[in-house]
Amino acid sequence: MFWWQGDGGQGVRVAFTDRGAGNLALHTGDDADAVRARRTALERSMGVPGGSLVFLEQVHGTDVADADEHDRPAVPTADAAVTARGVPLAVMVADCVPVLLVGEGPRGPVTGVAHAGRRGLLDGVLERTVEQLRARGARGLSAWLGPSICGSCYEVPAAMREEAVRRLPAVAATTSWGTPALDLRAGARARLSALAVRVVEPTVSSGSSCTCDNEALSSHRRDPGSGRIVGLVWPARPGAEVSA
Ligand SMILES: [Zn+2]
Repeated sequence: MFWWQGDGGQGVRVAFTDRGAGNLALHTGDDADAVRARRTALERSMGVPGGSLVFLEQVHGTDVADADEHDRPAVPTADAAVTARGVPLAVMVADCVPVLLVGEGPRGPVTGVAHAGRRGLLDGVLERTVEQLRARGARGLSAWLGPSICGSCYEVPAAMREEAVRRLPAVAATTSWGTPALDLRAGARARLSALAVRVVEPTVSSGSSCTCDNEALSSHRRDPGSGRIVGLVWPARPGAEVSA
C-alpha cells in the first residue's frame, strides 16, 4: 500500500502510496464507490478517522487551501493545502511531484501538501505553500519529495523546455534518448532550497522513484489508465503503528 513511509518529526507521519493502494482519484473515470472504498482502507491504514483525509480538486494552479477553515468546501479546489490543527492531508499525482511539508508551529506541527507539476512549479505553488505555512508560525520546515517522472523520461517540446528553463534553470534535462526534457524534482528541490526548506528525497531499494520507470507507481505518461498515487501527511496517534 505504501511505497515509502516515515517519521516527519513533531509526531507527524509522512508517506507515499504505490499502486497496491489502488487508484485514489475520483476524476480519472474509475468507479467512484471503488475509489471511496480504497480511500477508507487507506485511512484505516493511517490510523485516522474515516472521512477525515482531505483531498483536493487539483487544477495545476497555485492556490493553497486552508484545511482548518471552518466553512471550507469538503474538497477544496487548490493544488496545495496547509493545516495547523493536524488535519490529515493528501495530494494526488501520476508523474507530477508530490511535496509534503512539516514545520514546528507555536502550538504543535504545521503541515502541508503541494502538487508540483510543470505549471504549478513554475508559477510558484511551492513558494505560496511555504508562505502559508510560515504565516501559521512554522519554523524549521522540511519537505519530502515523492515519486515523480524523472528528467531522463519526461520528454517535452524544445520550446517548452526553453520557456521552463528561463523561469527555473534547474529543470533543464535531456531524455535518455537525447531529446529535450524537464526534471521537475530538480526544479522543486531548487525552489525549496532557495526558500531555506530542508529537502528529503526518500528512495526505496525495491524500485525506481521514477513513476514512468516503475510500474508499481502511477504514471500518466506511461499509462494514462494507471490512476493516481498520493502523498500523505498526518498526525500519528501516540503509540499507533501504521500498517504496511
Ligand atoms: Zn525515469
